[in-house]
Amino acid sequence: MVFVYSWGGTLRRVLALGFVLLGLAAQAATLGVQHVEPPHWWVGMVDTRLQIMVHAPGVGALDVRLQPYAGVRLAGVQRTRNANFLFLDLELGPAAQPGQLRLDFLRGAQAVGSLDYPLLLRRAGSAQRRGFDASDAVYLLMPDRFANGDASNDVVPGLGDVTDRAIPGARHGGDLAGMRQHLDYIASMGFTMVWPTPLLENRQPRHSYHGYALTDFYRIDPRFGSNQDYVDFVADARQHGVGVLQDVVVNHIGTGHWWMQDLPDDGWIHHAQGPYVETNNRHTTVMDPHAAPEDRERFLQGWFDTSMPDLNQRHPLLARYLIQNSIWWIEAADLSGIREDTFSYADPQFLQQWTRAVLREYPHFNIVGEEMQDKPHQIAYWQKGARNRDGYDSGLPSLMDFAVADALAPILTEPEGWDKGLGRLYDIVSSDYLYADPMHLMLFADNHDRARIFSVLGEDVQRLQSALILVATLRGIPQVFYGTEILQTSPSVRDDGRLRADFPGGWAGDRANAFTGSGLSAAQRGMQDWLRHLLQWRKTSAAVTRGTLLHYVPQDGTYVYFRSHANDTVMVVINKRDQASTLDLSRFQTGLQGRTL
Ligand code: CA
Repeated sequence: MVFVYSWGGTLRRVLALGFVLLGLAAQAATLGVQHVEPPHWWVGMVDTRLQIMVHAPGVGALDVRLQPYAGVRLAGVQRTRNANFLFLDLELGPAAQPGQLRLDFLRGAQAVGSLDYPLLLRRAGSAQRRGFDASDAVYLLMPDRFANGDASNDVVPGLGDVTDRAIPGARHGGDLAGMRQHLDYIASMGFTMVWPTPLLENRQPRHSYHGYALTDFYRIDPRFGSNQDYVDFVADARQHGVGVLQDVVVNHIGTGHWWMQDLPDDGWIHHAQGPYVETNNRHTTVMDPHAAPEDRERFLQGWFDTSMPDLNQRHPLLARYLIQNSIWWIEAADLSGIREDTFSYADPQFLQQWTRAVLREYPHFNIVGEEMQDKPHQIAYWQKGARNRDGYDSGLPSLMDFAVADALAPILTEPEGWDKGLGRLYDIVSSDYLYADPMHLMLFADNHDRARIFSVLGEDVQRLQSALILVATLRGIPQVFYGTEILQTSPSVRDDGRLRADFPGGWAGDRANAFTGSGLSAAQRGMQDWLRHLLQWRKTSAAVTRGTLLHYVPQDGTYVYFRSHANDTVMVVINKRDQASTLDLSRFQTGLQGRTL
């Protein structure tokens, strides 16, 4: 990985990963080092501690000595039940300068190898980086399915899985090069953030395209590109006014992870031995005062899937490893946010440590968690500042609003009633008192785990537009799933391979091209233009991006709300009736503040 850093007043090109590899070749070959993680670190971090995992045959029997380096101290060496691992605890004091540490490995008094470890300078302003918020609009895409910019990486020998566009669950060849080539499109649509599903290596025999069974915490999957390609993509996105959210998974790994061949310690993975135990997916066992401990344990410690071993974040070395890994990617790739997968499945105390460590390092950063529950109280429990009876506060600033998302279909299609249709939406929004900060929810109509909203709404363009107006204006941070803007369809019940279909134009020879508009139907082009206008307008609206929300009881198939900030007010009317309606404005005096239409 190549980084450009300002170092000692001049720009120098630092071959960070190269340093480690050179170190292995020149000094550590006799050690047989297989992994050094993280591969480098930085001076000037708020947290001055650094834990380095060294994986080499028999390394646990060796002693380690740090050659004198100003400001840096080897505070300790931790050994586990596996003699192939050492965990080095370093203290990087304020006097530490960028450079290379040299760690000597000794058997008794005899040096048997050494390792050079790079310490880099942070990029200027890194700690003050801004995360995403309600002024942003997020584009969710699946890298394997968005655009294939480099056909030469479609198949990488040794990683497993097949690449075949005709098979919905196989890899299709999309990559970072394709994403980078189409940043113009993403930015022109009005998106200011992009959330790609996980890009880290998935050395899995099947379904590796989705990326959630990661097998190397420090390596971009070569079928997407290199670590450097990722860094370049994020930098280019930033030039386009688009920040990047990394999809982080701390709950589980893939069975193809190298740890599964040589577990760093006992208790690293839950149920590492014995019969397969799957999570019961009962999220409420975490906050339920009556929940049986067995059920809670099963939820937290069962595997998410046969291909996804469950990590034990209570192991202090693993907890530290995961925390550092998140910080490493923020710093190395210059991220604007994190989307955290399967949030509540991880150990609750660990999640507190993780969010606090990340936000301590980056106080203006943002993290959104996936808590796939359809009731506001179940989601609200996890938000930073929640006043829970058990005193728990995860420290997570933002959550996805599955309560609204999962109700959108009935809200927009079922006959109106007290708690039906728009009444259902009114009830959900009125539950915002449960959230510590409802304006920090991420609002969406569908995502990569849902049947496509256009199909769920009966392929009715007006209903889709109503859904997207709600997403863009109701409150919080809007997120749109790639393809929604060109009316992509799917089976109306969840079918992963098909709802995650290829974006037209992303592959050479595609009949239609959504990036240029060629081959799209008039309805598709119309929808694309409509969403572009909505999101570009949204950027200019203080009321929608920063304002308060005032909503009125639905009546006669209409739902009316106002967003207001200073003198800027936006009135939104959702009309569910098949025909035009005449609104009696006298009902909305508070929202209108004397204005007339
Ligand atoms: Ca490719």
